[in-house]
Amino acid sequence: MIPASFDYFRPQSLEEAIGLLNQHGEEAKVLAGGHSLVPAMKLRLAQPKVVIDIGRISDLNYIREQDGKIAIGAMTTHHAIETSGLLREKCPLLTELAPQIGDVQVRNRGTIGGSLVHADPAADWPAAILALDAELDVVGPNGSRSIHVKKFFVDLFQTALQPNQILREIRVPATPRSVAYVKFAQRASGFAIAGVAVVVHAASQTVSVGVTGVAAKPYRANAVEKSLEGQPLTAESITHASKRAASRIDPLNDIHASAEYRAHLARVNTRRALQIAASRI
Ligand SMILES: Cc1cc2nc3c(=O)[nH]c(=O)nc-3n(C[C@H](O)[C@H](O)[C@H](O)COP(=O)(O)OP(=O)(O)OC[C@H]3O[C@@H](n4cnc5c(N)ncnc54)[C@H](O)[C@@H]3O)c2cc1C
Repeated sequence: MIPASFDYFRPQSLEEAIGLLNQHGEEAKVLAGGHSLVPAMKLRLAQPKVVIDIGRISDLNYIREQDGKIAIGAMTTHHAIETSGLLREKCPLLTELAPQIGDVQVRNRGTIGGSLVHADPAADWPAAILALDAELDVVGPNGSRSIHVKKFFVDLFQTALQPNQILREIRVPATPRSVAYVKFAQRASGFAIAGVAVVVHAASQTVSVGVTGVAAKPYRANAVEKSLEGQPLTAESITHASKRAASRIDPLNDIHASAEYRAHLARVNTRRALQIAASRI
């Protein structure tokens, strides 16, 4: 349980951090809250030669309104999101999800950026970030670019981020209160075996459904969304649509749940999340 030795850097600015990342290439890892990286290093599943601690870079830690969206710095902790008045008012899906992550210690240290980049298939944030159609801002030696969340998650523990890039910001739209996050959690850790985030756009009679925990990467339940397009959200239409929550998905099969059970949970949690969100219109 002791990590392999490594060099430690604590840059004071994003530019300095990117310079270090660029200099050390794939031998380096960024350290945010450390709640996924440090356990992996202790188990020697990760053995970076260089650790770049971005915890002192203050301009990665904020929640603010900007150009009609809400911008969240990558180093913002789960706890800061849970207790944000701005998000509670303007993007309540995030404040509903945050307290369902791990325990108090995890939420006090773990960051939304670290969770998204780590891309654990059982992480909670991806479901909401997908349902919200978020934009992710990444910065590297050649400048910054914005990645739509649908292109961000590539595979198990893999994202579109390059090794010399840092996730800087997550931008989400303001939503009405008709949202919900429902998960079935692994009892010991709290990680999602099946987590479903729903946003109901009453004006356009559409829904957005993000699913995590079920497959190797989080996904939008397109078949559910299509089935409900232009439909009133009744018990019948919701039940009918939810049956498609795991359509064309290859569910994970591991010690926590069989593929069949995960697909079942995806359908049940989609129905429940849609019912809750519809009741909040
Ligand atoms: C006991 C326990 C229970 C947990 N339960 C849950 C749970 O119920 N739900 C859940 O979703 N999560 C859970 N987690 C995970 C937790 O949310 C982590 O905090 C999160 O996955 C990683 O965030 P971090 O800030 O700790 O990142 P770190 O561990 O510091 O980093 C994770 C990875 O992301 C990279 N990285 C971090 N930030 C950036 C950045 N800005 N740009 C580029 N790369 C970056 C690092 O290099 C590393 O590869 C749990 C963790 C523990 C230890």
